[in-house]
Amino acid sequence: MKIIQIDVFAKHLPMVSGYNMSSSTVGDPDTTVVALRTDAKLTGWGEICPTGPLPQVEHAGSIRADLDLLGPALIGTDPLRIGLIHDVMAATMDGGQGARSAVDIACWDLLGKYHNERVCDLLGGARMDPVSTYHVVPIGSPDGSAQLAEQLQEQGHTKLQLKSGGRHIDEDIDAVHAVANVIRPGVDLFVDCNRGWTVGEAIQVSRACRDLKFDMEQPCATYAECATARTHLHHPLVLDESATDLATIARAISTGVADGFGMKLTRIGGISGMRAVRDLCEASNTPTSCDDSWGGDIIASACVHVGATLTPRLSRGAWISAPYQAGHYDEEHGPRIVNGMIAVPPGPGLGINIPEGLFGPPIASFS
Ligand SMILES: [Mg+2]
Repeated sequence: MKIIQIDVFAKHLPMVSGYNMSSSTVGDPDTTVVALRTDAKLTGWGEICPTGPLPQVEHAGSIRADLDLLGPALIGTDPLRIGLIHDVMAATMDGGQGARSAVDIACWDLLGKYHNERVCDLLGGARMDPVSTYHVVPIGSPDGSAQLAEQLQEQGHTKLQLKSGGRHIDEDIDAVHAVANVIRPGVDLFVDCNRGWTVGEAIQVSRACRDLKFDMEQPCATYAECATARTHLHHPLVLDESATDLATIARAISTGVADGFGMKLTRIGGISGMRAVRDLCEASNTPTSCDDSWGGDIIASACVHVGATLTPRLSRGAWISAPYQAGHYDEEHGPRIVNGMIAVPPGPGLGINIPEGLFGPPIASFS
């Protein structure tokens, strides 16, 4: 099979409800969709959608500039040889993990369509279907956050992520207490600061909440700061934004800096990169999630397919942004959360159908 044309599309994803983190508020993210068209008349779809210029290092403009470099280099290559596709991309540019990830996801979609297999089956098979997810409790008042946490548990959610940071830590401490006090047996709580605390603040929060059960996710801005805080914390430390590549993840595990990971598929090289993280975490008995920053049904489906293959007891869940979005690409088969779980789309590849013309004319096309 050969790639004969690559189309790049841009689409705003309107939101139905707010979503805030310590560093930014998400508002109508701008997604980039990649279509790999082949001489076999099959099209593979990939996607990457940062929440905005914050909090990740890539944004829509940088990703599209990267695709301008990668697109011409990929014409004529075989998308089923995904390792070789990564070689071509690595030989074209340094960096650009987001754009490379979108191409990787499209290749896996093609591989599945070509072999009439679901992506999760090509990855070894679904260990969970439906896949557990976690739900975010945005930054808010202690009472409001606790009320939402109760509602979400009522709906069947067994993993909750409380956002924190970006305000005085006394407010965070109050909110953590309020939410932790309504957490039911069997439900896991993560407190995700999205890099919002200093080392000292992370330690103070952990001490003030030392009798409460939760994991502390990415409390500080850098790997070094998290590593410094780690030895003083009373809570397991989960790395997200600082888990930038496989070598860093291996180091964080082997040095005891990280007790788990919040992983973004398009930060680590797409489905191929996340498969490696999955295997490393399984080998080292380390929990991980399988998420992405944001995105439509393409990225959601990729997260759910890989998330289904995680070892269940080490899974921190697959996360999708579908509940916050006003519209979807595939209303019938796109991944949706039902009772705190997400069913894996049934069809080959990513398992979703993208109608031609859905995204309007391409913003770039290579052939
Ligand atoms: Mg996180």
